[in-house]
Amino acid sequence: MNDKIEKLKEIIDKSDNIVFFGGAGVSTESGIKDFRSKEGLYNQKFDRPAEYYLSSQCFYLDPEVFFNFYKKNMNCLNAKPNITHLYLTKLENKNKLKAIITQNIDGLHQKAKSKNVLELHGTIYKNYCIKCNKKYNAEYIFNSKDIPRCTCGGIIKPDVVLYGEPLPESFNLANKYISEAETLIVAGTSLTVEPASSLVKSFNGKNLIIINNDRTPYDHLATLIINDSLKNVINKLEL
Ligand SMILES: [Zn+2]
Repeated sequence: MNDKIEKLKEIIDKSDNIVFFGGAGVSTESGIKDFRSKEGLYNQKFDRPAEYYLSSQCFYLDPEVFFNFYKKNMNCLNAKPNITHLYLTKLENKNKLKAIITQNIDGLHQKAKSKNVLELHGTIYKNYCIKCNKKYNAEYIFNSKDIPRCTCGGIIKPDVVLYGEPLPESFNLANKYISEAETLIVAGTSLTVEPASSLVKSFNGKNLIIINNDRTPYDHLATLIINDSLKNVINKLEL
């Protein structure tokens, strides 16, 4: 075990008010691509930028195009939680971890049985009719032909935060958890997508740990920086 992992272990052992803030890197081991990586969605060639297809403008003005893109690229129904999700559930069960704040929409923390999960960008697992608010599951959306419609005829909208939409309530709650935490572990996120990344600035606690393959704009605030994959870090932690 190297020094940094040992230090991380020591911090986690001593702390009982930990908050975890994760990004796409948490789910890559589950086979879900990081949109912003080289092979990710945002670097693929489409007729328009990926941000357009995932915007509220596209959803409301051109739902057929929206759902064509959404169903092709956002379907992670078969993905399974990985070592990081499972490790966090253990920490939560030990009452050390107070909240998991995630930028992912894949629901994998819930699949791993974590309880207090704040989804900053929503989830593919909740969907509702824009006319009557009736709820639909994710299977209904991904298995629908063309535009998924409610029994009332209204279009069903995934509860995913689209470009151009306001942040969900979970954002304020996430801010509160971070500002009250003793230890904040930020992992698998390049911290380049605002306003989510600026949440880090609310942290007033003792230990800010950043685990990411590359550097982040908030590294100068960190007490401990580990530039490695989450899988490697958690594997070593559990040795
Ligand atoms: Zn309806």
